Amino acid sequence: MLRDLDLAFMRLHVLHHAAQDAFYGAAMMEELRRHGYTISAGTFYPLLHNMEAADLLHREERVVDGRQRKYYAATPQGKAVLDEARTKLTELATEVLEGHGPEPLPDPPTDASSAAEAP
Ligand SMILES: [Zn+2]
Repeated sequence: MLRDLDLAFMRLHVLHHAAQDAFYGAAMMEELRRHGYTISAGTFYPLLHNMEAADLLHREERVVDGRQRKYYAATPQGKAVLDEARTKLTELATEVLEGHGPEPLPDPPTDASSAAEAP
């Protein structure tokens, strides 16, 4: 479960940077480590490639210091997904970090008419 969460956080983190500027794979892996994620190339590159296959990232080859390197940037869809996630993140952070709410969950219905609507 923690791994699932970490992977989701890493995807968002990658998307956030990719929406700002194209990045080189190894540099992003370093960035994630700097943020405390334990990630190997064997996990990181498949994650990037999945995001590319999902049309969240766009890959381009650049020649840097005479070497060909792959850079990744967010696609328009990637930016749209990030925007949506940003809204959810804000709401989640408000509840989880700032101690606002959650609103108490509603009591189960007691009268017969609402109970009948329950699946
Ligand atoms: Zn970062």
